[in-house]
Amino acid sequence: MIAVVKETATQDQLDHFVKWIEGRGFKTNVSQGDNETIVGIIGDTTQIDPFLLESMDIIERVQRVSEPFKKANRKFHPEDTIVDCGHGVKIGGGNFQVIAGPCSVEGKNLFDIARAVKASGATMLRGGAYKPRTSPYSYQGMGEKGLDLLVEASAELDMPIVTEVMDPRDVQLFLDKGIDVMQIGARNAQNFPLLREVGKTQVPVLLKRGLSETIDELLMGAEYIMSEGNPNVILCERGIRTFETRTRNTFDVNAIPVLHHLSHLPVVGDPSHATGYTRYVRSAAYAATAAGADGLEIEVHDNPSEAWSDGAQALTPAQFDDAMRRIRLIREAVTAPVEEAK
Ligand code: PEP
Ligand code: MN
Repeated sequence: MIAVVKETATQDQLDHFVKWIEGRGFKTNVSQGDNETIVGIIGDTTQIDPFLLESMDIIERVQRVSEPFKKANRKFHPEDTIVDCGHGVKIGGGNFQVIAGPCSVEGKNLFDIARAVKASGATMLRGGAYKPRTSPYSYQGMGEKGLDLLVEASAELDMPIVTEVMDPRDVQLFLDKGIDVMQIGARNAQNFPLLREVGKTQVPVLLKRGLSETIDELLMGAEYIMSEGNPNVILCERGIRTFETRTRNTFDVNAIPVLHHLSHLPVVGDPSHATGYTRYVRSAAYAATAAGADGLEIEVHDNPSEAWSDGAQALTPAQFDDAMRRIRLIREAVTAPVEEAK
């Protein structure tokens, strides 16, 4: 349920109202926008009489929210959320960012890749130190040493890093190392203890869509994180499993505007895992940009044929540079004001 507060309400009246609601055992989510203030009421709101709220001096109107996601819901928070990823990089609400880097951290080549992607316009560096591999015999990542390399590269290049956390027991290590953005991968999109654990921090979380997840399930994943107190969630469409076998996954470009409609959280597109093949990655990146994504996550490797994971979908730095030029043009095209036809 949401209660829209009248413009004339004072801060004292608002605080009093919030206290009154919370005193009845509900949680609240106050969104103070430029135009209106909305108090989201979370809990079994069938017990609340909307007419009683509407009879209060400071309440403009009351509306039931049927979706099960509340904090992630645009009805609770009409304005776009802007997530501060550190190093001066913000995403969402008109801020577009490109996250690039290798699938896995492999060693010192991380620095060459980082320098190259930064020169081409990437603003955040990615690389996995803990890798969720389908086979237990595949390379599992460098672990803590990989995190250290990421932190070193982040300091040298003044870029926030995005890296995957797979185990709730590792969250404290990620905090201790000062990781800027924790990624929750597709395979862990519904690992609820992990979602809750990252939710207990204030570190931004890049939450990927699960392998066969619906849009609503993805939003419920975000809700798990936010319900623990962490509002800094970035959603990521990375392709879903369908009957199609020509690509690694099927990129659900639709999900980008749908997520923007349903939620205030920033939405990133990952064309690398969505397609699985270098030859298709750029087209999918352009589509995501044109669809209004707030950013992209793209795998780049200095020598894809030697990459320790996901070489088949990596762009070379030169290919990434070419992609970035076109991404900038597309971004300008979709955000530029267009004159009305006379
Ligand atoms: C990754 O980003 O390298 C990764 C494993 O992605 P996903 O979880 O989307 O498969
Ligand atoms: Mn990968």
